[in-house]
Amino acid sequence: MSFFFNKNQSFSEETKIPHVVILGGGFAGLAAGKALAKYPVKITLVDKENHHLFQPLLYQVATAGLSAADIAQPLRHIFCGQSNLTTLMDEVVDFDLDASKVHLRSQSLSYDYMVIALGVTTGYFGNHQWARFAPGLKTLDEATELRRRVLSAFERAELAIDSDEASLWLTFVVVGGGPTGVELAGAIAELAQHVMAKDFRHIDSTKAKVHLIEAGPRLLSAFPEGQSSYAHKRLKHMGVKVHLNEPVTSVSTDEVTLSQSSIHSGTILWAAGVEANSVASKLGQAPRDRAGRLEVGADLMLPNYDNVFIAGDLARLSDFKGKQVPCLAPAATQMGRHAAKQIVQHLAGKPSRPFVYFDKGNMATIGRSSAVANYRKISINGYFAWVAWLGVHLVFLMGMRNRISVFLNWVWSYLAWRQGARIITKKLPGRSESSISTSSA
Ligand SMILES: Cc1cc2nc3c(=O)[nH]c(=O)nc-3n(C[C@H](O)[C@H](O)[C@H](O)COP(=O)(O)OP(=O)(O)OC[C@H]3O[C@@H](n4cnc5c(N)ncnc54)[C@H](O)[C@@H]3O)c2cc1C
Repeated sequence: MSFFFNKNQSFSEETKIPHVVILGGGFAGLAAGKALAKYPVKITLVDKENHHLFQPLLYQVATAGLSAADIAQPLRHIFCGQSNLTTLMDEVVDFDLDASKVHLRSQSLSYDYMVIALGVTTGYFGNHQWARFAPGLKTLDEATELRRRVLSAFERAELAIDSDEASLWLTFVVVGGGPTGVELAGAIAELAQHVMAKDFRHIDSTKAKVHLIEAGPRLLSAFPEGQSSYAHKRLKHMGVKVHLNEPVTSVSTDEVTLSQSSIHSGTILWAAGVEANSVASKLGQAPRDRAGRLEVGADLMLPNYDNVFIAGDLARLSDFKGKQVPCLAPAATQMGRHAAKQIVQHLAGKPSRPFVYFDKGNMATIGRSSAVANYRKISINGYFAWVAWLGVHLVFLMGMRNRISVFLNWVWSYLAWRQGARIITKKLPGRSESSISTSSA
């Protein structure tokens, strides 16, 4: 199929209007939809949620710094001014690539082009049974569940009948020494040391222990070594006990077993590993990496299907310099935009172009006034990196209301050492609780 057209061609012209289906309203799907705004295509964007989520700030929802609504924006609102795009809140369940069809829970859609941007989920390295004891952090439901567990742990400690039980509830374990693990561990330590300290009568929350477990030899392995040791020192200073070279061998309701020791804890959180969205397994024989992410060509096309593109975290590829494209929001955005451009190229009968990743650097916050930022050969640690982190996250957060709300929350927390979203919306979890329940913020 080849269509020659330009941005100004209108739908009323007598050509078949190509139907582009975009699966996923994350960073990649959003960018693909927006990049096609001015072209005469009919777009259907499908997401099982009704919102776009700014995942980089999820840990702040999990630790009561922000509310769920601060970091999410309804997809319908984002695209309300784009007349060639329709949003469907539905779940992708299967594909028929040879018939150019995608099956949703409520209906099937035929497409001329499809962009699959369904992201990844938390990975447990084949130990899915650990998920109920150690929930991950990928969605708003999971963030509010983590918040419930963290805040409830302090309440449980206050109700404890003896010091052993109180100590169990005041011990927090975070598994995974990447940016999310470092951010979670730092934020829980600050919550215990400063925010909760005045609020309880029976427990001393400053005695809470936070353990950060990493299987590898250093924290923040995607950053230069100097920044890993800076993060390690800062966390130690904040009272976090960092365990390196200690892979987790088992997790139960109140115990994490490591290769050389074990830790009793009432709250175990998982921030290690990702795996491809499970629905990606329905994409036939497409090659995949160990995490199930789809290995795509340089133009992001699914092998053997020149009308199907994979974008964002779900795609595994190396750029033209052979460097693997990271699972980061800017990379997903760039891929989404590139997939859209390839559709335009294809419609115009032009050859596809390879994806070129523009590295915008990497950042992680450790705690108040302390972060690491890295851009090419420039590395900054400490206060200025933290200010840069705040600025970048505010700028890229979707929606002016959210930006203002997050900014005011941050100013308030900084000045008053208070977290505004310390609300538990469900019953306290008991020690025997074995399944992740969800709650709304
Ligand atoms: C806790 C956390 C912190 C992070 N911090 C940073 C950071 O500081 N900086 C940074 O650059 N990156 C960060 N990232 C990574 C970044 O968020 C991802 O790289 C980015 O979100 C990937 O975008 P995506 O569009 O591929 O997938 P996603 O943003 O995950 O979007 C996938 C979309 O698909 C939808 N979906 C999934 N399954 C289905 C289905 N079956 N049917 C319909 N819809 C479905 C989901 O609801 C979602 O909206 C972080 C990620 C997490 C989880």
